[in-house]
Amino acid sequence: MEKRFVYADNAATTRISKAALDAAMPYLTEQFGNASAVYSLGRKSREAILKARQQAAKALGAEVYEIYFTSGGTEADNWAINACAQLGEAKNKKHIITSSIEHYAVLESCKALERQGFEFTYLPVSDDGFVSVSDLEAAIREDTCLVSIMAANNEIGTIQPIADIGKLCRKKSVLFHTDAVQAMGNIAIDVNEMNIDLLSVSGHKIHAPKGVGCLYCSKSIDLPSFIKGGHQERGKRAGTENTAFIAAFGEAMEQASKGISERAAFVKGLRDRLIKGLDGIEKMDINGSLDNRLPGNVNLSFYGIEGEGLIIVLDMQGICVSSGAACASGSLEPSHVLLALGKSETQAQGSVRITLNEENTEEDVDCISQKLKEAVEHLRSVSPLWDNG
Ligand code: PLP
Repeated sequence: MEKRFVYADNAATTRISKAALDAAMPYLTEQFGNASAVYSLGRKSREAILKARQQAAKALGAEVYEIYFTSGGTEADNWAINACAQLGEAKNKKHIITSSIEHYAVLESCKALERQGFEFTYLPVSDDGFVSVSDLEAAIREDTCLVSIMAANNEIGTIQPIADIGKLCRKKSVLFHTDAVQAMGNIAIDVNEMNIDLLSVSGHKIHAPKGVGCLYCSKSIDLPSFIKGGHQERGKRAGTENTAFIAAFGEAMEQASKGISERAAFVKGLRDRLIKGLDGIEKMDINGSLDNRLPGNVNLSFYGIEGEGLIIVLDMQGICVSSGAACASGSLEPSHVLLALGKSETQAQGSVRITLNEENTEEDVDCISQKLKEAVEHLRSVSPLWDNG
């Protein structure tokens, strides 16, 4: 098989779409006005931001004034959690519930609040990667001010029962935040139907540029400000708006909310073909359930080898995949998500995440399965761990 470039790390980031790039270009060139300026050059930028806000709101079933543009998913998560903690503290409610498989943007925000005296319950997940709604119900206390559970996991792709969680939180009058960074574009989201109070999205996971995203916050919440300064984002997130990236993000949100089931069916077909293509590899586990999972996600553990080694060998063949979360790469810490599923450190260290999207082809996945088979065979042939095990 010929060497070809295959990008299969779409949970880490995606290629910017032509539609998003076209939406951004005018504001990087002729239409460079500051959106706060009164003259028409400024007005053009203001109009672009309003359009993007409308597109983002529509994609989530929200109102325009419930959308706050941010620098991405990390900022939206930090803002949501800190804002709800602040609102809770004012009512003497300092207990927050989250899960053990959240992204670091959530977990590190929680750790910082723990140091300030907040109490946390980190819900466990089943061995196939799901939070249980009855565990959540049992964990909710009188002083719980927030439940933050991700819509879909970035490492194993499991989709959490967010509509049920939203319903329960509404019944118990507890605020519900969901990190929908990986879910956006893969599952239909309606913040009202799902009783979601706050939700985070990131642009670069849905074909917009890196460094832009949004926080949805229900109009029923008096959202505390995050960045102090000018009047931008209704005075809650100050700083001159990144008009070009916001325009691209609005376009990406519109595209992401369209054709979800067709896209998912196509990508799932590729994923199933890939898994079939890996038939015959000994001692390989698929991590997390294959049902209720993002269509493009395959997370595998191979006994006797290190995921990092496998990634380097695949990279030499032109294939981009990752081990664990992209942000955690570079450290050989085993993935907290795989450990939460009850996997051993060795299994977690021998893991690889392949994330396909609608830009991939059957040729891509056939290339991945063949090169992966060869790489596993080669690495095991030189691995003392494989001899032992
Ligand atoms: N939340 C999840 C689930 C993610 O996968 C990521 C990125 O990997 C983030 C948050 C952070 O988003 P951003 O890269 O836009 O800061």
